[in-house]
Amino acid sequence: MIEILNPAELARARVTGALVADILQALKARATVGTNLLDIDRWAKAMILEAGAQSCYVDYAPSFGNGPFGHYVCTAVNDAVLHGLPVDYTLADGDLLTLDLAVVNDGIAADAAISFMVGTSQQPKSMALIAATERALAAGIAAARPGARLGDISSAIGAVLTGAGYPINVEFGGHGIGSTMHQDPHVSNTGQAGRGYKLRPGLLLALEPWVMEDTDRLITDADGWTLRSATGSRTAHTEHTIAITADGAEILTLPTAAGRSIPVD
Ligand code: MG
Repeated sequence: MIEILNPAELARARVTGALVADILQALKARATVGTNLLDIDRWAKAMILEAGAQSCYVDYAPSFGNGPFGHYVCTAVNDAVLHGLPVDYTLADGDLLTLDLAVVNDGIAADAAISFMVGTSQQPKSMALIAATERALAAGIAAARPGARLGDISSAIGAVLTGAGYPINVEFGGHGIGSTMHQDPHVSNTGQAGRGYKLRPGLLLALEPWVMEDTDRLITDADGWTLRSATGSRTAHTEHTIAITADGAEILTLPTAAGRSIPVD
C-alpha cells in the first residue's frame, strides 16, 4: 500500500523527522574513540523514550532476522553496512561508522542514516565512499518532484554511485514511509528514468544510497542481522526521509538548530 499524507500528517512527519535527525547528530557527537556500540544504543533508547516516541527497531522481527532486533539504533562498522546489530565493540580511530535510526512519533515514522569517520582519521578511500552516498542522496532528492517517476530517483542515485566506480546491490534500497517504517514503493538505488510510480504530493520516501567498495554481494552475520560486504571491504550508507511537495521535495530528517542532548551518561 502507498500512503499519501494530508497536510496535518505532514506537519507531524516534520516533527518526527527532526527528532530522528537530532538524535543521530547527538549520537555522532558522542561516538568517538573508545565509545562502545552498546552505549550508543543505550543513548538512542534514552533519547527516543525522553521524546515520547517509539522505536521502529526494538520489536522489528522480519523473516531474515533471528527474532526481534531488540535494539534502538543500527550500528554498522567498516565492512558492515545494513541492519548493524549493536554489539560489545569499542570504536577505534579510523573506524567508519554508520548509524541508522527510525522512530514513530505521534503516529508518523521517519528514517535516516549517516556514515562518518571515528576520531581524526580522514582515510581517503573511506571519505570517498561516504561522499559518494551523500552525493547520490542529493541527486535522488533533486529528482524527486510531483509528476516525476520513481525511476527518475533511482536513475539519479545509480548514476552517481556508478560514476564513482562502485557496484550497486539491488536487494536493499529505499522505501515508502508513513504511519509505519517500511511501505511501498521500493526505491531501488539504480533504475531507468521515466519508469515506475508517478510521484504525488504527500508521498513520503526514505531514500538510502549505500555502497560497498568493491562488491555488490552481502554476507550475513550469525545473528541474522548485520549485513557485511562479501569481500570485507568498507561500506557507507546515507539516508533521508523526504516528502514530495507541490513543487519538489522537502527533506524531513534535517537537524534543528537547538539539537538534542543525551539525557544519560
Ligand atoms: Mg530506511
